[in-house]
Amino acid sequence: MTQPRAAATDVRAETVAVTAGRPAHEPDEPLNTPLHLASTYVAGGALEYGRYGNPSWAAFEEALGALEGGRATSFASGIAAVDAVLELVPTGGLVVAPRHSYTGTVLQLDARVESGRIRVAYVDVTDTAAVAAACEGAALLWFESPTNPALELGDVPALVAGAHAHGALVAIDNTFATPLRQRPIADGADLVVHSATKYLSGHSDVIMGAVVTNDDALAQRLVDRRSLGGAIPSAFEAFLALRGLRTLHVRLDRAERNARDLVERLAGHPDLQEVRYPGFGAVISLVVAGGAEGADRFVAAARLWVHATSLGGVESTLERRRRWAAEADTIPAGLVRLSVGIEHVDDLAADLLQALDAAR
Ligand SMILES: *Cc1c(COP(=O)(O)O)cnc(C)c1O
Repeated sequence: MTQPRAAATDVRAETVAVTAGRPAHEPDEPLNTPLHLASTYVAGGALEYGRYGNPSWAAFEEALGALEGGRATSFASGIAAVDAVLELVPTGGLVVAPRHSYTGTVLQLDARVESGRIRVAYVDVTDTAAVAAACEGAALLWFESPTNPALELGDVPALVAGAHAHGALVAIDNTFATPLRQRPIADGADLVVHSATKYLSGHSDVIMGAVVTNDDALAQRLVDRRSLGGAIPSAFEAFLALRGLRTLHVRLDRAERNARDLVERLAGHPDLQEVRYPGFGAVISLVVAGGAEGADRFVAAARLWVHATSLGGVESTLERRRRWAAEADTIPAGLVRLSVGIEHVDDLAADLLQALDAAR
């Protein structure tokens, strides 16, 4: 069985997204790594058993690893990837994390604190000095930038340097930015986490995650954790995620252009208290003037935009984040997070404006 081809190192990210992780250019090799359905392999090779490895995972991992600049390990979901990284923390270890994070990550951190497994210090990632001070004695600095759903930005190289000065590992959840807008390993991060469910796969039909690192010992611990814990992706999910990754740059460019355009059109709208946009990517958070009720009316009045959680698909979706009990209470009750898709921006804008009118 052929291994996926390594990515060329002298080409741009868009070319890597299209070319990495494909079979060798040999007669009768398929252009795409096929879907490998196998629970076990003939003994004597590198794979042995389906929980230890799968060529469809390997192809996805080759491509994502090449984009992020490290070695990728895929997992059953983004939250399984989060779990694997938090399991790297020694018992009693301190984790520094942003107060605004993906809710599942905060729930995982809090569950470990409750069971006595780890300690957590929550910080504001926009306050670089405070984060660095909190990292004293820490085992891990974990953060997102932009944060979900507040869309705050951290100074990635400065935060990494602050944590490393105290000997802490640094893990960054790069789900919102994708490797096309932010490459944390190049900024010194030790671990990059992805919910491949979002932009990487991009079509709202896959749940999958990954961790990327350029430290071989950490990569091996993640693979061991996956084999032991069993949070493996299915071959089909990996196949679909790689198929999605091939068009990441095209989808993201278009969604981001739409997002920028919508931010301009919505700025100063009398029914919006705030239009938050981090300057890149395709997530916008709107704070609706009418609070929770006004925001719920706005979401219900949208026709084209689908009321749904999650983000990063080709279709535009929106939701009021505080409808989730686990969302931080420092997030405004009327905050509606938009995941901008690749539809025509005039249609997206018209629908938002009519929904704001209807919600008044
Ligand atoms: C969705 C998400 C996760 C969790 O990923 P799943 O694939 O849903 O398990 C983690 N981090 C961020 C930033 C997310 O948006």
